[in-house]
Amino acid sequence: MRISSVWAVAVGDAGRPLVLQGVAGVRWVGLWDVELMVSDAVWMGAQVWLRLESQAGGGAGVAGTVCSILLLVALVCWPVMGQVRRGFVERTSARVAQLWRINQEFAGDAARNLAVRLHHDASSLRQFRSIQAETIANGRSAEWEPLVALVRRGRWAATEYNRRFAELEGTPNQVTEYPWFIREKGYARVERHVLSKLHLKFNTDCAVFVSWQYVSPQGRNRYEANKTLTFEDLEALLVQLDKQQRYRMSAQYERSLMTPSMRADILRRDGYRCIKCGATAQQGAELHIDHIRPVSMGGATTPENLQTLCAPCNTGKGNRFIG
Ligand SMILES: [Zn+2]
Repeated sequence: MRISSVWAVAVGDAGRPLVLQGVAGVRWVGLWDVELMVSDAVWMGAQVWLRLESQAGGGAGVAGTVCSILLLVALVCWPVMGQVRRGFVERTSARVAQLWRINQEFAGDAARNLAVRLHHDASSLRQFRSIQAETIANGRSAEWEPLVALVRRGRWAATEYNRRFAELEGTPNQVTEYPWFIREKGYARVERHVLSKLHLKFNTDCAVFVSWQYVSPQGRNRYEANKTLTFEDLEALLVQLDKQQRYRMSAQYERSLMTPSMRADILRRDGYRCIKCGATAQQGAELHIDHIRPVSMGGATTPENLQTLCAPCNTGKGNRFIG
């Protein structure tokens, strides 16, 4: 078997294939150029493969075989040389050193997977139809609120980090002498690769996948729906939740908790009489349910904070909080 041609295809992760072909008689690519191209590809995590084609009785000749073997040897050496160059750059580049320091500062903000799934099983078809993704998310905010906080922080970090990264360009290169295996241009190229590999990513978005379904009795029918809430959707939800929260804390809400059945309970508990003067409804007294600690002062609508008072006792008390 004689090797008539050897060719290597290297595909960089940028997706551009480099095809090098060395066949006897064909114009030979300058070794240095080949080296640059291949080490580029290897550098980018490329796959390099070789195929040796044998040609029975082909006229490749000694020159072709020698060239092919040289190319083979070179292909084996180039990845090693790539490592040597990278190592040299990592040891000597002031920009790389600076980026390592910046990365340490931002390590806590680096990207992780920010996605949450919320699933809800509806109890009836009617409920299923009335459900909205926001309603489900609303009730389970504890599960996704941390994501919103992380994205807010991530967006800030990304801006700040990119600003610092851009500043690196201005950091002077302290290397004055280049060894035999790397030239100034190559150094800058390898340095750019190293910097881009070290460049951190941040969470600038998150997603909450909400799904809900209803399965009819005996599982005859199945209804499914889903929606993905983005960061912006979630922020809008938080504003809503905040309003609800404030309403909940509000006097209006406390007063709204006073239901007819709670009134009846308090009246029964207090014996249907004013607990201050003992006046009863039978005696013509108008009985009120009063908040001991006024709602306006944070009093809750709970049995412990409620008492039965007649109108005069109640008005006399006003909003003063005694005890
Ligand atoms: Zn009274």
